[in-house]
Amino acid sequence: MITGKNHIGNQLSAKGTKTFKTFNPLLNIENDWEMTEAIAEEVNEAATLAAEAFKTYSKFSGYKKAKFLNAIADEIEALGDTLLDVYSSETGLPKGRAAGERGRTLGQLRTFANHVKAGNWVEASIDTAQPKRDPLPKVDLRKMNVAIGTVVVFGASNFPLAYSTAGGDTAAALAAGCPVIVKSHPMHAGTGYLVASAIIKAAINSDMPNGVFSNLNSNGIEVGQILVQNRNVKAVGFTGSIKGGRALYDLAAKRQEPIPVFAEMGSVNPVVIFPKALKSRAADIAKTYAKSITLGTGQFCTNPGLILGIKSEGLTNFVNALSKEIVQIEPSCMLHPNLVEAYEKNKAYIISQNGLKVLADYKTEVKINYARQAVTAVSGNIFLDNPTLHQEVFGPFSLVVRCENENQLQEIILNLEGQLTGTIISDDNEIQNYSEIVNALQNRVGRIIFNGVPTGVEVCPSMVHGGPYPASTDSRFTAVGVDSIKRFVRPVSYQDWPNDLLPDALKNENPLSILRNVNGQLTSEIIK
Ligand code: NAP
Repeated sequence: MITGKNHIGNQLSAKGTKTFKTFNPLLNIENDWEMTEAIAEEVNEAATLAAEAFKTYSKFSGYKKAKFLNAIADEIEALGDTLLDVYSSETGLPKGRAAGERGRTLGQLRTFANHVKAGNWVEASIDTAQPKRDPLPKVDLRKMNVAIGTVVVFGASNFPLAYSTAGGDTAAALAAGCPVIVKSHPMHAGTGYLVASAIIKAAINSDMPNGVFSNLNSNGIEVGQILVQNRNVKAVGFTGSIKGGRALYDLAAKRQEPIPVFAEMGSVNPVVIFPKALKSRAADIAKTYAKSITLGTGQFCTNPGLILGIKSEGLTNFVNALSKEIVQIEPSCMLHPNLVEAYEKNKAYIISQNGLKVLADYKTEVKINYARQAVTAVSGNIFLDNPTLHQEVFGPFSLVVRCENENQLQEIILNLEGQLTGTIISDDNEIQNYSEIVNALQNRVGRIIFNGVPTGVEVCPSMVHGGPYPASTDSRFTAVGVDSIKRFVRPVSYQDWPNDLLPDALKNENPLSILRNVNGQLTSEIIK
């Protein structure tokens, strides 16, 4: 049952009077359950409890944290169809997608459990002393990663499970040893409530300290703002708009003690199609891209919103084929009326720009809260002169840029903002002729794709989901995969510390049998 209360550590709490309901976009009605927004007092209670929990939780062994992460996965799974039904009611997404995303969420939690159990994530580095070094003796120095402190997580509207309450950011922070406070996303607060209940159940059953996890409801920016400014909060994970991510980043930077905000934000995910590929398989590429642009009603951060090609018969054929294909696809429901409204408004604004041509716009009447997909085109000259055209239209929308020549294509890429992904579509051996373009693209993105589509983000250690600003606020990190734990740790060096007082990861006898860098050599050997 969804009581709609906040989870302040292990307690349910509803001290405030402001309530809100989530919305079923398919039925165009409010959902039954009523959520109570957290008040400042509850935010501070959660942060104080988390700071207290940090003292013990951050010292727990990999085994103990792994047990907790696995228990969270089990409890989420045990929610069964109730969770999937609430998810669908709050998003309009089919139950199959809900089940798929749940699988991904459980997979992430269990992968992080294995990751912390294996222990190598601490990146232990040991430089043993050389007391007789001339002219000065060398001290014994041992370094490892430790948890940064309480992490606040702002979940994504478009991934209610995999990038929300118990999603990637939460799993990474808990794995690192950081307590987590989730600022629940108002569009799927019921789903968030159920998942939070599962986490608390797992925390109690795994003997975790009270406050290791809290979940706060809000339908407005105040709760998030208070959280980010709380002195007990030490880092933030965010997925959402550039406006929201940037506002929180600025707020965190203005604190007396500034803290890192790892925000994963907007991206148009440029796709560059080379001439030979256009000439030989324009229709096939168009078919693939019509599907990618409309996948999940275009509500993916890796949606291909910008397609770049050099003027040619092949590009004309591609544009014609894409225009035909895209309107063949049945429109689908967006997550929330606000998103449909924003999509239609942003699309109309882009379309109103000088020199922009609408190639295809789904004209037929669509059901309420469904999005009409659209493809537009513009010349390279106009695109270069108008930065508005570089902005993301979140939804099933893409802009094709007809470049005058190779130089202009390169200039356009050099002028793009940072992106999550960049894609090259090329025929065999063609890519060799465009190394400068490929280099330019690689410098703007976190992931570069060859002959594929950017939609579909595999969760594995080699994935980079991030990129130069504004794709993310720190291009050195990924938000997906086990390396995302690195956002929530900091390195600490122990100098001349007695062996028995060192953390296990740094002891001579290597009781955790982890891989360590010992005097420049990667080894799991003990130090004699
Ligand atoms: P959003 O408006 O950025 O909101 C995300 C979360 O941050 C919400 O919980 C929101 O709280 C909070 N928030 C936003 N601005 C804030 C501020 N100034 N101070 C404190 N908290 C703030 O994004 P969204 O509602 O999830 O989706 C809207 C847009 O985000 C989309 O149209 C799309 O452009 C973008 N988006 C990008 C991705 C991506 O992966 N890159 C994913 C999803 C969405 P409240 O809602 O309670 O105000």
